Amino acid sequence: MFNSLVEAKRFIEEKRIQMVDFMMIDLNGRWRHLTIPVDRFTEDTFKNGIGFDGSNYGFAPVEKSDMVFIPDLSTSYVDPFMEIPTLAMIGDVYVIDVPNNRPFDQDPRNVAKHAENYLMESGIADEMKIGPEYEFHVFDHVSYSTAPNESSYYIDTEQAEWNKEDRDFNLGYKMPHKGGYHMAPPQDVLYDFRSRVCMLMEKQGIRVKYHHHEVGGPGQLEIEVEFGSVTEMADKTMMTKYLIKNEAIAEGKTATFMPKPIFDEAGNGMHVHMQLFKGGEPLFYDKDGYSQLSQEALYFMGGILRHIRALCAFTNPSTNSFKRLVPGYEAPVTIGFATANRSSVIRVPAYAKDPDKKRFEIRNPDGTCNPYYAFSAILMAGCDGIKNKIDPVAEGYGPYDINLYNLTEEEKKKIKSLPRTLDEALDALEEDHAFLTEGGVFPEKLIEIWLINKRAETKKHSLMPTPMEFDMYYDL
Ligand code: GLU
Ligand code: MG
Ligand code: MG
Repeated sequence: MFNSLVEAKRFIEEKRIQMVDFMMIDLNGRWRHLTIPVDRFTEDTFKNGIGFDGSNYGFAPVEKSDMVFIPDLSTSYVDPFMEIPTLAMIGDVYVIDVPNNRPFDQDPRNVAKHAENYLMESGIADEMKIGPEYEFHVFDHVSYSTAPNESSYYIDTEQAEWNKEDRDFNLGYKMPHKGGYHMAPPQDVLYDFRSRVCMLMEKQGIRVKYHHHEVGGPGQLEIEVEFGSVTEMADKTMMTKYLIKNEAIAEGKTATFMPKPIFDEAGNGMHVHMQLFKGGEPLFYDKDGYSQLSQEALYFMGGILRHIRALCAFTNPSTNSFKRLVPGYEAPVTIGFATANRSSVIRVPAYAKDPDKKRFEIRNPDGTCNPYYAFSAILMAGCDGIKNKIDPVAEGYGPYDINLYNLTEEEKKKIKSLPRTLDEALDALEEDHAFLTEGGVFPEKLIEIWLINKRAETKKHSLMPTPMEFDMYYDL
């Protein structure tokens, strides 16, 4: 929003801003924040930064643990949810050093910028443009407890339908099971909610393509946005999630990006469309290629498909992620590519025909990822594909223009599957991460801490009695 502190100060005066808020991204991809009164917002904030204890953000310890963050003025916005007029912006993390502080290599934003530089310096392309799709659930009410010494284990979600009072006598308008796609009112009770969120997004410079009710229901929603570069779209993903969650709270509801919040309902994906550009020209188009894709596009895809099992450790980093990647809910299960086929992990949308629109989407990512790491990992896998000319056809990844859910057992055996658990994805990452550490984009230390933290999550998950187990075994 601003190019200089002078500009920002003028705005602060005009709008009677009282507080300046800094948002930093932690290891898991959550925003944390720290706030200063406006008169403390000076040249020094940018020169020396603001000190904080990085260990609480989940990053691997570095030799010097004192860190500072330096705000990025270009990301400034007025926080629409604060009562006190607040100007907010994202902070970049630095490690204190003499004479100059240096960017903290594990900082998610730094990894994303590094990945973008790698793409440029390798001569592959000037820019990767991506378009994430946001699917999420909105509930009226969620309560759960898995606390070790609670006697009752329960999860209670109340889906956003129509008014409670109406529900008892108005049973005609049920959202059909797996039938919520593009549903209109009266079933779609969240139209105004989505519209309000989209208006907030537009105000923050996030161009909305459209919003609609999704297949799962009631209360599974989707918002799609215009494409942008990698760091930009990771920033916009953080903002979008913040706006959705806080608008839901403001309306007495609650929103989640959990990949599979409800058994036997559609899960929430965060598909990512991608394109490369060089000298302003789209690199993914060739009128004679498969589905009008160029050889570069196929190599890029080949890299993603070869590394997809390891990629899942960053694109699907929760135990819940793998409850979504199962047959029957439009989520991908097998490793392959196809046109207009939602059961393969890479889909080439048939409707995107113009050269500058030509693209494909990767369908496994979900909203529990740290978007900076996930998008950067996809970029690095694709670059590996181009550098090593990994041809997805020669490697046996398709094209699979058939419904992969309906294959016979014999046919299925020939096709590789996505990991079935987070542990499998972590094993894959442990074995296959040279494509990420290439050029120092993902520091070894980051891979190490990611594996340690995520293994701790899978262990906890395997040791925790669940409500389902009470259901199945309590009375045996
Ligand atoms: N909800 C589906 C998923 O889990 C995707 C549906 C769609 O294609 O938009 O990936
Ligand atoms: Mg969708
Ligand atoms: Mg999609």
